[in-house]
Amino acid sequence: MKRSDTKKMEQILCIYCGNHRSPSEEHVVQKSLGGNLITNLVCKDCNTGFSTIDQRLAESSIFSLARVGNALPESFPAYLGGDNLRVSPEGRWEDVRITNRMKVEILPQIRLEKEPEPVPPRIAFAGSDPDEMRVLISLVDKKIGNGAINKVFIKVGDPIKSKDPRIVLHRHKDLYIRAASQAEGEEFIAVLTRVWSQIYTQVQGSQLKVEPAPPGVVAVEVQVCPDENHRAIAKIAYNLLAVCKGAEYVLQPEFTPLREYIRGNEIVHEPLQGSEDVTVDTRFVQSFPYGPSAFMPSDGHTVVLGYSHPTVFALVTLYSNFTYLVKMADLDLPEFQIEVFEFSIDRTTSRRLDLREVYQRRTTPDIQIR
Ligand SMILES: [Zn+2]
Repeated sequence: MKRSDTKKMEQILCIYCGNHRSPSEEHVVQKSLGGNLITNLVCKDCNTGFSTIDQRLAESSIFSLARVGNALPESFPAYLGGDNLRVSPEGRWEDVRITNRMKVEILPQIRLEKEPEPVPPRIAFAGSDPDEMRVLISLVDKKIGNGAINKVFIKVGDPIKSKDPRIVLHRHKDLYIRAASQAEGEEFIAVLTRVWSQIYTQVQGSQLKVEPAPPGVVAVEVQVCPDENHRAIAKIAYNLLAVCKGAEYVLQPEFTPLREYIRGNEIVHEPLQGSEDVTVDTRFVQSFPYGPSAFMPSDGHTVVLGYSHPTVFALVTLYSNFTYLVKMADLDLPEFQIEVFEFSIDRTTSRRLDLREVYQRRTTPDIQIR
C-alpha cells in the first residue's frame, strides 16, 4: 500500500465541514450529560468548536439543575456552572460548588476579615476538603513567591456577597479573588502578600479547619443562552442521524442550513419589537410539550428520529423531562425508518430500541406526534 493511501484511510468525511480530515471522538449525546455513544464522523477542528455550546448546555441551561440533581454520587462529577455562593450560619458569604445530587461543597478559600484600625485584618480559612485546602495554600505560596499573585483574576461582584475579599481555588485548580471592587481586590493581594509568611507558618503548625457545608441558602447564578443551548440540542439530533444514515446522507444540501446553524455560522433572529426581550432562532429547535417520555418512560435521555412529509425531524428528550422538536431538513422521501434511542445519564449505556419494546413500554397510547 502506498503511503498516500494509508494517509487517506485515516481521514473521514466530516459531517460538519464536509472536508476529508482526521477524525476525532465526538459524543452523540454530550459526555457531560452522561452520553457514551461516540462517533468518529467529526473532524478535530469542528469538534473543538463545539466545546462552548456543550458546556453551556450541561452547566448553565435550564436543565443544568436537573443534570446535577440526577447525577449519581458514584458517577462522574457533574458540576453546576455559574457563580454559586452560600450564606454560612454566621451570615458570611462563601464560594461553593454544586455537584452530584445537589451536594454543596465549600470551595477552598482564604478570606480577609477587616477589623477596625489598628487591629490587623483577620485571616480565615474555609473549605470542604483538606487536600484541596493544601493545594490552595501551596498554589498561593508559589504565586506569592514568584510574584504571579498580582496576575490572579479579580472577580468583582455583588458588594454584599463579595464583602470580605477572598482568594478561592476553583475546580480547574485555578485561583480567583472575589472582591467588591478592583481596588479592594488589589488591596487584598497586598495584605495577603504582607502577612503570608506568618499565615504559612501558622498553617504548617496546626490542623486546618475544614467542614462539609451544612444545609443553608445557596444563591445560584445561571446564564441562559437559548441559541447556544438549542444548537447543542440540534447537534444531538444531527449526530444521531449521521450515525444511523451515514455522512453522505447528512451532507445533502437540504441539511446545510441546520449544519450552519449548529456550527454557529448562521443564526437568524427576528427583529426586536422595541423591547429588551432576548430573541432566539426558532427555525430548527422548539420546545415540545410531548416527547418520548410522554408515552415511553425512561430514566435517561431519549431521541426519536422520524419523518412527517416533508420534514425529517427528531424529538430529543433530556433527563426524561425536557423535550425539543428538531426540524432537520425537508426531503421528499418514499419511506423513513423510525429510530428510537435511549442514552444513560451516567456514561454507561446507549442503545437503539426495538419498536416493539417502545410499544410495550408505552403508557399513554393516544398521543399523536405531528
Ligand atoms: Zn469538520
